[in-house]
Amino acid sequence: MEFSSKLLEQAVNEMAGLPGIGKRTALRLVLHLLRRPEEETTALTSALLRLRTEVKLCESCHNISDQLLCEICANPKRNHELICVVEDIRDVMAIENTGQFQGIYHVLGGKISPMDGVGPSQLKISTLVEKVRSGLVSELIFALSATMEGDTTNFYIYNQVKSFNLKTSTIARGISVGDQLEFADEVTLGRSILHRVPFEDSLRT
Ligand SMILES: [Zn+2]
Repeated sequence: MEFSSKLLEQAVNEMAGLPGIGKRTALRLVLHLLRRPEEETTALTSALLRLRTEVKLCESCHNISDQLLCEICANPKRNHELICVVEDIRDVMAIENTGQFQGIYHVLGGKISPMDGVGPSQLKISTLVEKVRSGLVSELIFALSATMEGDTTNFYIYNQVKSFNLKTSTIARGISVGDQLEFADEVTLGRSILHRVPFEDSLRT
């Protein structure tokens, strides 16, 4: 791609660095911004900049939050004894969209994947085990994707908590193996949480 302007080229290259954005799309977006009033670009860049500098991770569940505690953890109407364990923030959003879950979450920040060099210590597992140890948790629901890495992570956490007095369950799999939670439709995902099965049962299959 030949550019008539270094500034244009730089903006397109930055935009094209985003996932799913090719050079052509990047050029289209940049030209769109150029055609629009300058305030729109300012609003976009300042929103991104504020997000980058001001956003926090909830100190309890590690969800993205504007406060020390996210709105879900800070809500006294939620069932704080029921914790849904998920890989990332998109899963929280997907499950919240179902409107079927009244507990709280624990965001691991990924899953155990030796191939990618991700071990348990790089994930937020110890804070979860700590919550269980404190005796404030009655049930953990594993809602990780049904991949080998997801299963490994579930099993690792299960082994850490099984000696404590709590229920462990896994979401019912209307969702086929390898699907990501965020792509499951809301009805299926909502049902799979309501019809969750004891984790021990999932080990026998
Ligand atoms: Zn939280």
